Amino acid sequence: MRHAVVAGAGLAGLVAAERLTAAGLRVTLLEASPKAGGRCRSYRDDRLGRVIDNGNHLILSANRAVLGWADRIGGAGALKTRPAAFPFLDLASGARWTVRPGRGPLGALMPGARPPGVGAGALARDVARLLTARRGATVAGALGAGGPAWAAFWDPMTRAVLNEDPEAGDAGLLRAALLRSFARGAGACRPVLAPGGLGAALVEPALAVLAAQGCLPQLRQPVRTLHGAERVTAVETRDGRIDLAPGDVVVLALPPQHLAPLLPDLALPGPGRSIVNAHFLVPGHGLPPILAVLGGAAQWLFARGDVVSVTVSAAERSPLGEAGRAESLDLLWPEVAAAVAAHGGRVPEAMPAARLLRERAATFDQSPVGAARRAGPRTARPNLFLAGDHTATGLPATLEGAVLSGERAARAALAA
Ligand SMILES: Cc1cc2nc3c(=O)[nH]c(=O)nc-3n(C[C@H](O)[C@H](O)[C@H](O)COP(=O)(O)OP(=O)(O)OC[C@H]3O[C@@H](n4cnc5c(N)ncnc54)[C@H](O)[C@@H]3O)c2cc1C
Repeated sequence: MRHAVVAGAGLAGLVAAERLTAAGLRVTLLEASPKAGGRCRSYRDDRLGRVIDNGNHLILSANRAVLGWADRIGGAGALKTRPAAFPFLDLASGARWTVRPGRGPLGALMPGARPPGVGAGALARDVARLLTARRGATVAGALGAGGPAWAAFWDPMTRAVLNEDPEAGDAGLLRAALLRSFARGAGACRPVLAPGGLGAALVEPALAVLAAQGCLPQLRQPVRTLHGAERVTAVETRDGRIDLAPGDVVVLALPPQHLAPLLPDLALPGPGRSIVNAHFLVPGHGLPPILAVLGGAAQWLFARGDVVSVTVSAAERSPLGEAGRAESLDLLWPEVAAAVAAHGGRVPEAMPAARLLRERAATFDQSPVGAARRAGPRTARPNLFLAGDHTATGLPATLEGAVLSGERAARAALAA
């Protein structure tokens, strides 16, 4: 029986492992950390007494690969699709509005889909500039910063999609994401939420499926070295060496900063920016499940049960900067309290129980430099394949890209 070694039990590695076991290979799944899921994991937090996700993830109905994966492993029941409506709150002015993409390709330009004060002509001009952006352009370079839709649309959109500010983020990556979602109208823009955490939809069911096929991830087992110049002949882990026979394959589903020491000759994107998530316990908050926030440090609020979670992407380039835990919570809590008050919710007198998580290098470098250095799935060694959101999927660092990369690496490995 052919043997596959898959390194990394994030989404890309889980997908690759599942596809390879389903095709009849014996799969060894090696994971460096104590838990599967990688950058998309749920856990029970002692301070809050609730299951939380390491970071809020926005999945849209356009993300067919992610939804197909949830379906395939029996996790789709843990997901809930909501109407295509994105409420906004401007903390500076107190203004509130809801962006509702219309139906069909022009739906993104309909009056309900535009921020207040932004005309269809201005938005169409920006879209045209994005569509025709030259390779290597940043979002700000392509659109010209400061148009009418800048502060209420392009700046928050770039931070949300690319985890980068528009001065540095790659225009082509933003275009790829928008062409798959907003450009297809309301049907592609329905938010898909996981009321019990994304682990219950995308990770735990996968572990159950793999276990049923005899594949248990080996945790705390980082791959340390690959042996063999022409083909990989052995994989060295923390605890020993796995020898590979001709026909056996290796899939490395690792982020670039962990891949680089194993493949020092390969050009890879560097690490990108941090994402900060602050989770607050706020019973009676009155907030919608997702709220876009402008005019402060907070960018998005996700409300799940009585937990309100704040997302700050490209945190280094936000008012949070490199602030530590206490300072960040002190900055974010008044903004959450203001949002709760604006929605008629119950505002606690003092900051409630809170958890701050800063994911460093939450995504790969999504500047034009990073975007030009994406590799894979094939490598110079015919039995070595790459998966992961950083590989050349054409999409930004997303769950969708991770799933597609895992499928693609498995297909390439099976064809080897
Ligand atoms: C806070 C946050 C918010 C995000 N928000 C969104 C969002 O809203 N929408 C969206 O689509 N995406 C979002 N993303 C991105 C998304 O989470 C990632 O694109 C996706 O999870 C990447 O999966 P992956 O399998 O490629 O990599 P990872 O999830 O990083 O998996 C790699 C795995 O490899 C393991 N590993 C590392 N080194 C070794 C080694 N030497 N040997 C063995 N194992 C190793 C790691 O421990 C990890 O488990 C977000 C990410 C973060 C961090």
